[in-house]
Amino acid sequence: MGSGQVTSSVPFEFQGKHITVAGLGVSGVPAARVLHGLGARVTVVNDGDDERARAQAADLAALGVTVRLGDGATLPEGTELIVTAPGWKPDKPLFTAAAEAGVPVWGDVELAWRLRGPGAAPWLAVTGTNGKTTTVQMLASILKAAGLRTAAVGNIGVSLLDAVLGEDAYDVLAVELSSYQLHWAPSLRAHSAAVLNLAPDHLDWHGSMEAYTHDKGRVYEGNRVACVYNAADKATEDLVRAADVEEGCRAIGFTLGTPGPSELGVVDGLLVDRAFVADRRQNAQELAEVSDVNPPAPHNIANALAAAALARAYGVPPHAVRDGLRAFTPDAHRIAHIADVDGVAYVDDSKATNTHAAEASLAAYPSIVWIAGGLAKGATFDELVTGAAARLRGVVLIGADRALIREALARHAPEVPVVDLDRTDTGAMRAAVREARRLAAAGDTVLLAPACASMDMFVNYNQRGDAFAQAVRALGTGA
Ligand code: ADP
Repeated sequence: MGSGQVTSSVPFEFQGKHITVAGLGVSGVPAARVLHGLGARVTVVNDGDDERARAQAADLAALGVTVRLGDGATLPEGTELIVTAPGWKPDKPLFTAAAEAGVPVWGDVELAWRLRGPGAAPWLAVTGTNGKTTTVQMLASILKAAGLRTAAVGNIGVSLLDAVLGEDAYDVLAVELSSYQLHWAPSLRAHSAAVLNLAPDHLDWHGSMEAYTHDKGRVYEGNRVACVYNAADKATEDLVRAADVEEGCRAIGFTLGTPGPSELGVVDGLLVDRAFVADRRQNAQELAEVSDVNPPAPHNIANALAAAALARAYGVPPHAVRDGLRAFTPDAHRIAHIADVDGVAYVDDSKATNTHAAEASLAAYPSIVWIAGGLAKGATFDELVTGAAARLRGVVLIGADRALIREALARHAPEVPVVDLDRTDTGAMRAAVREARRLAAAGDTVLLAPACASMDMFVNYNQRGDAFAQAVRALGTGA
């Protein structure tokens, strides 16, 4: 084995280099500033030419950065390196031109990776279709409980460039990486990494499931200590097998069942470690109770096990896993319990924007009135509905693509009552919650897990979840 790569060890000289930054915005503007500060000759190209872009361009131009608005397609003359915003699709003409000219392309993560100083904090990386944010936050909480200086950074909204170049000193970073970021991060080498799960998502960007899977698998390349995979999702284990890792790096599975050697799992309501213990054939180490995980839904226990595996790979003691999990509270709109009204629990999982996520939250409750619908992004719902049918007390459908879910329900759960709300105005959520209340009985859960994106009715999933919570509170007051 061995990494077989030399790119990571070759320092890159920025001074005097012609570097094109593709895309203004959250990653482009700071990248342009940093590269300019390193003495590079920076040109920023941007597709849009709106007011915001002009203001950003003016700020950069004042520094001496060249900005070309309204043309993100043409490769500027003399470009030696492109640093791209992660969302730019690989089939853009700019990248075709770069490939023809032999110009390398880096994303924001690659740039941050290359700019780490000597002795910089190692990265514990997390990717997967769902659960990334939750898992890196759990991981950061566990690392903090162990007394380590750390932060949850990356795709979570905290720039890696800031983490790497900022004032704060870190012992170790908990890094969330999207498939886009991994696509553009050729020399990234994590201490340890986890792929939580793999289901079709963002296929329009990657071009195929194979390409998406391949980009996710990049997170394991060159790992030093552990490649953490989901024992219930064979595709993640296959990626570990395919990865070129450092000598001695171990494959560590996590499972909701009893763990085998080199796995973390669950036994009698306890999270246990049979990977990072002496004599793992005979021994297991208790880490925490399942009830320490918030919320203790099956998919979230899986997230906790993945976070625990990465923390244990880094050498964190068992008590810190327990303390970190206890201290963790999930971000809003991720299986957030809003209120109980007349014995019915109302739960906001507005972040369930695809069928894989909705499947996980529907599996967490025995009797559900499900509020679903929105923009389907090309998804089909047969599998989701078939798996959930036995738990559905009723369904309320909202949003542009609700007919797709209604048809799947008619095929696989014809006896379940469905209210099809033919409206996409902002007041529709209030009507949806009222209808759900009508369908629910004491002991049920009304679950907003739309399995769809929100932009047909809302600005984003946050606003959708807020509308749900508001509507639930209005029930409580009888308003
Ligand atoms: P990401 O950062 O990958 O989008 P989040 O932690 O924000 O993930 O969770 C997004 C949604 O995905 C949650 O609201 C939940 O519905 C679902 N989810 C979380 N963890 C998992 C998991 N391990 N498997 C499947 N679905 C999950």
